[in-house]
Amino acid sequence: MGDLPEEFPCTITNWEYIYGLCRTVSDDVKADDFEPDVVVALARGGWFAGRTLCDFLGLDDLTSLKIEHYVGTAAKGDEPEVRYPMPEGSVEGKDVLIVDDIADTGQSIAHASEYVNDRNPNAVRTATLQLLQTSEVEPDFVGERLEEWAWVVYPWNFIEDMIDLTESVMEKAEAEQFSEGDVRSLLRAYHEIDPIEMEIAQPDRLEEVLTEMERRDVIEYAGEDCWTVP
Ligand code: ADP
Repeated sequence: MGDLPEEFPCTITNWEYIYGLCRTVSDDVKADDFEPDVVVALARGGWFAGRTLCDFLGLDDLTSLKIEHYVGTAAKGDEPEVRYPMPEGSVEGKDVLIVDDIADTGQSIAHASEYVNDRNPNAVRTATLQLLQTSEVEPDFVGERLEEWAWVVYPWNFIEDMIDLTESVMEKAEAEQFSEGDVRSLLRAYHEIDPIEMEIAQPDRLEEVLTEMERRDVIEYAGEDCWTVP
């Protein structure tokens, strides 16, 4: 979640919704008569979409690529770093579909395309489940365009994101202890997370988040259904 401001909107999604976006992308790929031989899923956000697209498109060749880029961190240079290189021969001479969850700056898709194109593929297309207007790159296939910038909480990292968000709102609020209701109010105040929308997308999950935060020693139980930040 990195360098985000104190307040920013978040959208909580669920498996059904994301699965639907995978179907939209796969329908677009088919309509375009593009028949990829291999899917390259960008780690780790693109993994679910990559696996599901293989299913929808009838492919058994799925590989992963992790590219880290550092925006504005001069010390680390501008060169993207390849963290999980692809095995030899993964894309050579093949029609390749590169998949990620969301394009924000578009750097991940841009660097991945460059990396794949350097390995003599036959053709390369890109897809993202969601596209933010901030992206400088237009993927070939897009499940959904988001009009307003938001941090999207995906079901595969629901716990991770909700722990980060909850911890940060607790730190910002100058209270001694927090009930589940307090956390819901803070998530709405700082991140525009509507409590009803959250229950519809991910029913009964906040208690699980708080229990997991306790297990990871991020918060401590203070009694009477309240928690404190140690
Ligand atoms: P991009 O290269 O498209 O800007 P980043 O490199 O900034 O993407 O982000 C890499 C990964 O971080 C994305 O694949 C996604 O998993 C996550 N991410 C970035 N922006 C968002 C967002 N607005 N909501 C949810 N996840 C995001």
